[in-house]
Formats: sequence, structure tokens, C-alpha cells
Amino acid sequence: MHNGATNYIAGKWLQSVTNETFTSVNPADTSQVLGLFARSGAADVALAVDAANAAFPAWRATPPPARGKIINRMGEILVANKEDLARQMSREMGKVLVEARGDVQEAIDMAAYIGTFGRLPDGYTVGSERPEVACFARRVPVGVVGMLTPWNFPVAIPAWKMFPALVAGNTVVFKPSEETPGVAVAFVQMLAQAGVPEGVVNLITGLGSEVGSALVEAPQVAVISFTGSTNTGRKIMERCATQLRRVSCEMGGKNAIIVLDDADLDLAVKGAIWSAFGTTGQRCTAASRLIVHRNVRQEFEQRLLREISELVVGSPSDESVDVGPVINRRQLEQIHSYVKRGIESGATLLCGGTILTGLPHANGCFYAPTVLGSVDNEMEIAQAEIFGPVTVIMEIEDFDDAVRIANGTQYGLSLSVYTRSNSRAFKAIDLLDAGLVYVNLPTSGAEIQLPFGGTRNTGNGHREAGFDAADYCTEWKSCYINYSESSDLVRAQIDV
Ligand code: NAP
Repeated sequence: MHNGATNYIAGKWLQSVTNETFTSVNPADTSQVLGLFARSGAADVALAVDAANAAFPAWRATPPPARGKIINRMGEILVANKEDLARQMSREMGKVLVEARGDVQEAIDMAAYIGTFGRLPDGYTVGSERPEVACFARRVPVGVVGMLTPWNFPVAIPAWKMFPALVAGNTVVFKPSEETPGVAVAFVQMLAQAGVPEGVVNLITGLGSEVGSALVEAPQVAVISFTGSTNTGRKIMERCATQLRRVSCEMGGKNAIIVLDDADLDLAVKGAIWSAFGTTGQRCTAASRLIVHRNVRQEFEQRLLREISELVVGSPSDESVDVGPVINRRQLEQIHSYVKRGIESGATLLCGGTILTGLPHANGCFYAPTVLGSVDNEMEIAQAEIFGPVTVIMEIEDFDDAVRIANGTQYGLSLSVYTRSNSRAFKAIDLLDAGLVYVNLPTSGAEIQLPFGGTRNTGNGHREAGFDAADYCTEWKSCYINYSESSDLVRAQIDV
């Protein structure tokens, strides 16, 4: 059990200036305390940012292939520790083991992919309009990257942000969610083992409202990279705007699956189950809306409810369990209040709708997989990101209706359509307003070699992963070199 008020700063575990701690508990059994961690403050942030700033010149000067090699080594360390890290994650945030292994695997894949970027082009050359002038543009690192990450992907998301930032030559101050400090400590220990030099990655634990907020204000931070809720992201963007600070925000979602009347219903039901109840509905890509054509609504609903009745809810460390706990009691109450208000506003409870209190759920934060029917798009339950094992069924008349409802929220992360028609599939790709569009696939299932992120209130235009993963933490520098031996001045745009 981790037990101490320490942060990882300049390559050492330093006692926090506040000398205060907070606890991390197991959401499947909240009586189980997993560790004590530093409840850091602004003075700790200042130390971490100073360390990252001091380490920047040498790290930026390190050849990119050498930086990439360290990330590749991190991938090997993750492979060697995959099972232990997955089990620790499962205990700390409640993800079932098979998914926790997948979370670590995503970081392994990211390390293998991004590590090679150290040897890939970091820019391009073009011809000049002036004679004997060479032109090229290359990416350069911005400096210190402040990272604020959520608890639901406590290994994958730090990896998405950190590996590209490091290979591009930036240094990092990492503030993980207060729900998953233990996994963050383990991740940073592995980075040190991989050979990340002192000061290049610094970890400060604590509460978002305290230490996270101080990181957003820290003067030497060049860019804030945030993943979390739209409410928190909006506040962070406002504060970054007043400081003219770059900020990259990946935020909430209200994702949907459209099931058209020509869909393979068995496939659609499987996709809906995984999208709605995978990670207990606590994925940014979770489908909390099922938009179903009226010709197949009844059949789809019956098959869906039959499958849900077989889901096992329980301790995530038990391999036979399908759905683990939600993250904490506050979230459990919030999910339940959304469901109650949904029913009050006219929705029909088709299954679930209860906090599970008897054994084996008595000590944990368990909610029954829930489906509400007779929902229309104006209801709160169809608009708010619930972030729990709850989904709604909305009946639609035709394709146009489906697209209108799917696009009819503030969010634009992940939308999916089930159809056997190529024409409808491609039209959906054109018309659905989201960063991720799937055909005959669940709303969750992004691969790291494509960009990840959302439109509208889900994101502010940046993407993580994919070929441009370092966009958010690099600047373009355009360079012009006159290699002529002539003393004539040749001006651009004027002398040609
Ligand atoms: P959150 O409450 O917004 O927190 C995200 C991070 O910000 C945490 O590290 C949090 O620290 C910190 N934070 C909170 N208040 C802050 C403040 N005032 N200043 C600076 N930092 C602050 O989100 P969450 O509950 O952890 O995660 C769930 C949300 O993340 C959902 O909305 C989900 O959709 C979204 N998400 C989006 C993506 C995506 O790629 N679009 C991926 C995963 C999750 P504390 O935990 O200590 O409060």
C-alpha cells in the first residue's frame, strides 16, 4: 500500500509542501483503503513546473530517436507488468479485469506506435519562390505540458498524452484524477525505469479543485492538456484564455447507436450491450442513447432486455463479472437521480433503475444495468451525460429522423449506425456530426492509429493519438535559408 505525502519531482519522491494526504478506496468495497497520497497544493505545483522547465533544454536537445527509444522501452515495461497494473487499476477504479488489461494494452500499442515517431519526418521541405533559398518547416516542442486526466482510463489516457509529448521533446507535469493516484504512481515509476531523465516527467497528486487548478494557473506551463467533463473543461478553457495559454480539451459525450430497419439485430444488440454497459457505462464513448427504427423497435427491445438479464454485476476482480461498480457513492446517487427524474418526466423503466444494496454488492457502488423507453430527445435523460450503466431507447420514423436526433445534443464524440445498406452507411458518415463514426460497430472501440476526439462541446478542435498526436504540444517553425553567393536582395512576393 502506497503510504505517504510524496510527489515525483525532478526524479525524486519529495514530501509535499502541504504534508497532507488523501485516501484512495476500492469502489467495489469502499471499506478497503488502497493507499494514502499527497494532497498537494500550489507550492508543490511550482516545484514540479520548475523541475519540468529546468529539464526542458536538455530533453529538447536529446535526439528524437533516443527519445523514441525510451518510449519503446516503456512499452516493454508495460508488457512485463500488464497483469499487475491491470489488477491494480481494477481495484482502484472498478473496471472489470478484461477491460483493465485492454486499458494497459492501449498504452502498450501507443508506446510501440509513438516510439517510432522519433525516426519519422517532423516536417517537410518545399521549393522557394526565390532563387537559391531553401525552405522547410518543422515541428518544435512547446515546453512544459500540464496534464489533467480522468479516472476512467487511468493508463491509456496518460499514455495518449504523454508519449507524443515526450517524443516531440516536451517535459511534463502530470496531475491524475484523485480517484486513481495509485495507478498514476505505478505508471510514473515505470517511466523512470524506462530511462526518462530527472525532471522530464513530474507527478503531483491531489484534488482537481486545489492542485489541478494551481497547475492551470502556473505561469511557466506552455500548454494544458485536459481530459474530463465538459463543465470542468469549460472552466479550464476560460482560465487559459485569460492567460493566452494553449489548451487542449477532450470532454464529455452523449453518444448514440442508430438501429435502422435493415440492421442485423443480433449484431446491433451485442453492440448496444457493449457500448452501454462496458466499463459500467463510464466511457466517454458509452452509448447512452439507442435510436431505433419503429419497424424493429419492439424486436430489438425484447432481445436487448433478454441479454441484459444475463449480465453479472459484481466485483471486477471476478473474471465471470460483466459489469463492475461505478466510481464512487456521489456518482451512484447522481446516476439514480437522473433515472428517477427520467421516469418522472414520462420515460418507462424497462429494466434496472436501482442501487444494488444486498450481498455481494453491499459495500460497493453498484447500479443495476438500466434501460428507459418512451424517451424523447428533449428529456434531460436524453441530453445529459449520465456516466453510468444507463441507456435510453428512442423510436424514430426514418433515416432523416435518426440523424437529426443523433446530432441533437451539445456533444459530438461517437455515433454509430447499424444498417445493411451501403448508401445509408455512407450518408450517415457524411451527416453524423461527431469525431468518431462507426458502421455496424459499437460506439466504443477506437484504435490508436487514428485521431481520437470530438466535435462541438466534446472538444476544442484537437485530437489525440493518430499521426498528428503531437499537434497539441508542438509549434510549426518555418525556416528560410539563403545559400546564394550574390549580394542582391531578393524579396518574397515582390521580386517574382
Ligand atoms: P472531471 O471531474 O472533469 O476531472 C478530470 C480531471 O480534471 C481530473 O484530474 C480532475 O481532478 C481535474 N479537475 C477537476 N476540477 C478541476 C479544476 N477546477 N481545475 C483543474 N483540474 C480539475 O472528469 P472525470 O469525472 O475525472 O472524468 C469523467 C469525464 O471525462 C466524463 O465527462 C467523460 O466523458 C470525460 N472523458 C472524456 C474523454 C475524451 O477523450 N473525450 C475520455 C475520457 C473521459 P480530480 O479527479 O482530482 O477532481
